[in-house]
Formats: sequence, structure tokens, C-alpha cells
Amino acid sequence: MITKIRLSTALMLFSVLGAARAAECERSIEANDLMQFDQRQLSVPSDCTSVTITLRHAGSEPIVVMGHDWVLAKTADVAALAEAGQRAGLTHNFQPSNDPRIIAATRVVGGGESATVRFSTADLLPGGDYTFFCTYPGHFGFMRGAFVFGASPGVARLKR
Ligand code: ZN
Repeated sequence: MITKIRLSTALMLFSVLGAARAAECERSIEANDLMQFDQRQLSVPSDCTSVTITLRHAGSEPIVVMGHDWVLAKTADVAALAEAGQRAGLTHNFQPSNDPRIIAATRVVGGGESATVRFSTADLLPGGDYTFFCTYPGHFGFMRGAFVFGASPGVARLKR
């Protein structure tokens, strides 16, 4: 009987921790009509096996005027991907098709719309140099931020 109670308590605790863990692996970010994201950095713990990002366009401009997407790549690939995305056009969400440099991407959304992407972190390196950005033409210079998987290099330095 005691064993049974202990087991159910343990299971309950496990499911509570599991829910907390899942929440740590989910992030939301907003974009607006002023060509801005509301966050310059998104961080998730390195034990997240998958990450869910929800992009919300809080503005009111339509896609053809002020569309936004959320794309994750290595920082070194951002400029080339933005250029290739511009050539790809809106029908391809301003993203080059099947490009392995794109780690994750939402579709392009207009004002009032949202899009969510869930992706595996299997190929991400903890502490790696990753950037999220918008591939809509002309946006990536302003709409970008650091994606921190596990401890950022700055935090690692402080701990030394
Ligand atoms: Zn944008």
C-alpha cells in the first residue's frame, strides 16, 4: 500500500516536471508593422529535444506590404539565406526550397496572423552561434536576434 502511494506521488511529480520542461521548450515572439521583433534573443535549455516557436504578427498590414516569417540558421548563413529567400519569392515564403542551411522556419504571415514551427534540436550544438531572422525582402538587417541553445558564450565566461 505504501509503495503504491509512493509510486503515484512519484508519477504525479514526474508529470508536473514534464509539463514544466515542455513549457521551457516553447517560445513565442511577436512581429509588428514597424519591421520589428519584440525580442532580440530567444533561449531554450539544451535538454529540449524539440523546440516550438510561435510567431504572431501583432500589426495590421497585409502580407504584400509587411509580411514576416521566423527562420533559424547558423549566424554565418543568414545573409546568404536572406538573399536566396528574396529570389525565392512570396510563393515560397521568401525561403529557398529544401535548403539544408534552414534549421527551422514558419510561413510568412500578415497582420493579425500567427504561425508555429516545431523542430528537432538533434543537429544543434549547445552554445552554437545561431540567429533567428525574417527573410521578407529588406527585413533581415532589422529583424534578427540570437537563438541561444543552452548556455550562451557570455554566460559560460561569467561562470569561469
Ligand atoms: Zn519581417
